[in-house]
Amino acid sequence: MIVIENGIVLVGNELKPQKVNLLVENGKIREITSEKLSGAERIDATGCIVSPSLINSHVHIGDAVAQDVGDGQNIAEIVKPPHGLKHKILQKTSAEDLIKSMQGAMWEMLATGTTTFVDYREGGVQGIQILEEAAQEVPINKLVLGRDDIFLDPDANLSKVRNNVQKLLKSCDGIAASGFGEIRDEVAQVICEECRKQGKISSIHVAEYREVQEQSQKNTGKSEVQRALEGGFQLLVHLTAPIVGDLDRVAAAGNPVVCCPRSNGALSVGIPPLRHLEEKEIPTLLGTDNLMFNSPNMFREMEYALKATRAYDRQYLSPKTVLKMATTNAGHALGIDSGVISPGKTADIMVVKKMSENPWLSIINRTESKNIICLMRQGKIVYKR
Ligand SMILES: [Zn+2]
Repeated sequence: MIVIENGIVLVGNELKPQKVNLLVENGKIREITSEKLSGAERIDATGCIVSPSLINSHVHIGDAVAQDVGDGQNIAEIVKPPHGLKHKILQKTSAEDLIKSMQGAMWEMLATGTTTFVDYREGGVQGIQILEEAAQEVPINKLVLGRDDIFLDPDANLSKVRNNVQKLLKSCDGIAASGFGEIRDEVAQVICEECRKQGKISSIHVAEYREVQEQSQKNTGKSEVQRALEGGFQLLVHLTAPIVGDLDRVAAAGNPVVCCPRSNGALSVGIPPLRHLEEKEIPTLLGTDNLMFNSPNMFREMEYALKATRAYDRQYLSPKTVLKMATTNAGHALGIDSGVISPGKTADIMVVKKMSENPWLSIINRTESKNIICLMRQGKIVYKR
């Protein structure tokens, strides 16, 4: 049993600051109370904020092997499969080197308050195995979404696709397709069907930039968002360049969206419409995306998300809204049992120094690794200062 006491705790789905104590037992939050608690181990959170630890909902962790490579080239040259720069680099990197750089990225996440990440893993079953091996000794939660090169084959036989999807799903939490620029709608449908049958996540990049939307409309008369929803994808990534009607479609369907503002910024493709997503009550998550051009640091992601959005819209966006994208929204949308401080939930928690009187801004604006007093994952202390 661990007691976290005397801190300001961001409680529940609304991250409401309350002066309460927490009891953690068997990996779960057992009790939240203003009473004094007894427990074997005590964490003194005096002068601290106790928050759900962070969830990075979109990463390509393999790309950590090529940090800051390719800067200045256009988005398709860098990331478009199968011939983009990142795919060439991934192909020629040895498994050992990949594993080392993946481990570095995972430790970096833990050092910056992230205890869960969703990886969009390239390289089929083998690619997933490499990540599994890398993650063996790192105390971090991960959801792995796989993909298969057969998705990119314009003549692929659909029952072969189905077979490969089924094989992939044996070793991962879902399937993530790169985008409609590369895959056919029929392939998309097979992916979604199989994921749905097995209760796994289906995800795809959509509307990352204007040109892919234009291309999609030219080829099919539909936006990428429309095709993703019709295909049955559950988790949409980016939506940085919605066309008229796209956001309403997503809102009506109720799908969550993962936005990656720093990635969009790095690739000069725009700023995701975070405020509009909020207005339409679309569950919004945040991810650091490609580690080629971003560190997997969610503090940086949140600060950029908040300020770039305010600057671009010339309107207010609340810091609580942004912190929810990295915690409660994500836990809920991904169907995992963490991301929120509530009784019975998994104890994925960070205790950070209170740097200012606004608890949400204190985290987004001012918290650095050195201000994390304690990081807890599944009720176990990962590190403590
Ligand atoms: Zn991505």
